[in-house]
Amino acid sequence: MENKTVAIIGGGIIGSSIGFQLSSLGNKVIIIDKGPFQESCSAHSFAWVNASSKSPIGYHSLCRSSVNKWPKFAKQLGTEVGLDLNGTTKWENSEEGADLARQRVETLQSWDYPVQIVDEEFIKAKNPSIHIKNMTFGQYIPNEGHVEPKRVIDACQFNIRENGGEIINDCAVTGFEKDSDTHNITGVITSSGTIACNTVIIAAGTGTQELAGLLDIYIPLLESPGVVAWTDPQPKTINGIIMSPAISDGTYTGNDEQSEVHIRQRVDGSYQMVNERGGIGNHHEQNDDSQEKAEDLLKHLTEYFPHLNTSTAIAEPVGYRPMPEDKFPVLGYDENWSNVYISVMHSGVTLAALVGEYVATEINYKVQIPELEEYRPSRFKK
Ligand SMILES: Cc1cc2nc3c(=O)[nH]c(=O)nc-3n(C[C@H](O)[C@H](O)[C@H](O)COP(=O)(O)OP(=O)(O)OC[C@H]3O[C@@H](n4cnc5c(N)ncnc54)[C@H](O)[C@@H]3O)c2cc1C
Repeated sequence: MENKTVAIIGGGIIGSSIGFQLSSLGNKVIIIDKGPFQESCSAHSFAWVNASSKSPIGYHSLCRSSVNKWPKFAKQLGTEVGLDLNGTTKWENSEEGADLARQRVETLQSWDYPVQIVDEEFIKAKNPSIHIKNMTFGQYIPNEGHVEPKRVIDACQFNIRENGGEIINDCAVTGFEKDSDTHNITGVITSSGTIACNTVIIAAGTGTQELAGLLDIYIPLLESPGVVAWTDPQPKTINGIIMSPAISDGTYTGNDEQSEVHIRQRVDGSYQMVNERGGIGNHHEQNDDSQEKAEDLLKHLTEYFPHLNTSTAIAEPVGYRPMPEDKFPVLGYDENWSNVYISVMHSGVTLAALVGEYVATEINYKVQIPELEEYRPSRFKK
């Protein structure tokens, strides 16, 4: 197989995981990122690795394959990436919430997904520090969890360098050097000069629409802001992901019956918390990244985890999900520019393990992976 020089625009979790796999196959990988990392979506992610919130079944299966690939991917990276696949624990405290959750569990079970209906005793045995009030329904999904995107990115980029590749930071891609006869891109024009390559991957998150537009490739993205918050490091008390119903009586701002509080704990002991929406494919679009909001969220969290009442809330700037118009991943070569590959998606943390491997396989071996057929960029027409 002839090795290529592949320029990857975007060093978030998607560009870095693809770069890692391509460089492991012997290709010369150059990642170009305008940085800083704090402005990428991967820096603000809740990083839930899951398939339980995904529908329809085809997309659920894609995410499920990636959940299953995470342990192998983390092992390949050869360092601690904070992968915690100790399950998703979720409960409801209203009859309406219980009915919706039960229906979803039945659907997932009909897809042979390993979700279990559990009682309060089970949840408390798994996570003794939780205080549950008025539980009407509980579920546990043993194969899911979370990971730390920054650690994954650092590990991928370390390996890319070890394999002879380059990571160019603080460098914005502003254009492409085109060969209109062969319909190929021969170089990427950047703020620091032109970088020659024979394949280009646009994995620029929310910057993908604009970059693709320079080549007249139409990739419509929606604006989808989201906000997480942190605590300072605390003793390790929870495993996996915890999803509690939000208290919607007006005590905490912006919550209604569909609101939930999701939490996880990183390797350093810090808790991450986020207000989310229940239901399939729902995302809580929010812009309030103030210190007051972070403190409100932490106070809310202490309803379920009273031991956190002495911890400090740390606000995190708003993050923007790279959300394709139809909410599904965009993966594949452009029909016109034959060496330009697009890779943009929400749930990029869940999908990074699979996408890295599949995209590298398609590019390196010139094959088409059937599971990616419905996600090709050509589905969007102006
Ligand atoms: C609040 C929130 C919660 C989330 N929760 C989850 C979750 O629980 N599970 C999950 O799977 N996903 C979740 N996501 C989504 C997930 O984080 C993203 O899908 C993922 O991080 C996208 O990674 P990426 O590499 O595609 O993009 P990014 O991380 O944004 O990386 C793209 C990079 O491209 C660079 N770039 C852009 N334009 C240019 C240019 N012109 N030149 C050079 N570089 C450029 C940027 O600097 C950036 O570093 C969440 C997102 C948010 C905001």
